[in-house]
Amino acid sequence: MKSVHISELAWPEYDARVRDGRTPVLIPVGALEQHGPHMSMNPDVLLPTAISERVADRIGALVAPPIAYGYKSQQKSGGGNHMPGTTSLDGMTVTCTIRDVLKELARHGVRRTVLVNGHYENSAFIVEGVDLAQRELRWDGIRDFSTVVLSYWDFVTQDAIDAIYQGEFPGWAVEHGGVLETSLMLHLHPHLVDMHKVCDHAPAQFPPYDFFPIKPEWTPASGCLSSAKRASAQHGETLLKVCVDGISKELMTAFD
Ligand SMILES: [Zn+2]
Repeated sequence: MKSVHISELAWPEYDARVRDGRTPVLIPVGALEQHGPHMSMNPDVLLPTAISERVADRIGALVAPPIAYGYKSQQKSGGGNHMPGTTSLDGMTVTCTIRDVLKELARHGVRRTVLVNGHYENSAFIVEGVDLAQRELRWDGIRDFSTVVLSYWDFVTQDAIDAIYQGEFPGWAVEHGGVLETSLMLHLHPHLVDMHKVCDHAPAQFPPYDFFPIKPEWTPASGCLSSAKRASAQHGETLLKVCVDGISKELMTAFD
């Protein structure tokens, strides 16, 4: 199979693919963040990358190397940045990284880009990076550079949620290290998950505000914000399919 990864192409092949600006380039944006005692610390990188590969294959796009670090883990969505292993960037670093990569792609001729986010906390900094890149590209006279910003979990359908969570969906924010990510990892990278080490506890409950410096006791000891006990490779296959189908469908017309 011809690779969809731009890093695996020789430059003349890459150049030929992107020069006319029609080929979309997907950029997975992740994080190095603890995901509980039962899972590796890289699902926020591996999951958007796997989804991007399949989408790119389907719609004739390319995939840029993932951004492997993200914005600081927040207690109410990622357990908190105090956890061992979690290794984060300042917001301005995320923003400037996104801006720089987009501008480099634009220099190659790319005009259609998709940021495929795998880490909740990145969202605002991705948007800021896109805004800065587009503003600076306009100064250079480039006005046809467009970007889709998405988080893959927003493509999980209500039918899939109903089938998998059986009425006990806790919300995406506390899904950190929970059923969604663990199921997708079981399907895609089973050797990075140990279901015997899953901590089965109720979804974390937080007050309707953030507090700084954080109170570590708010985060469940596992580092997960909900239980992954219900996770399975089969659910992961379902979740992957609805995300790839949904994102592919939207991207077919998003740039028209
Ligand atoms: Zn995650």
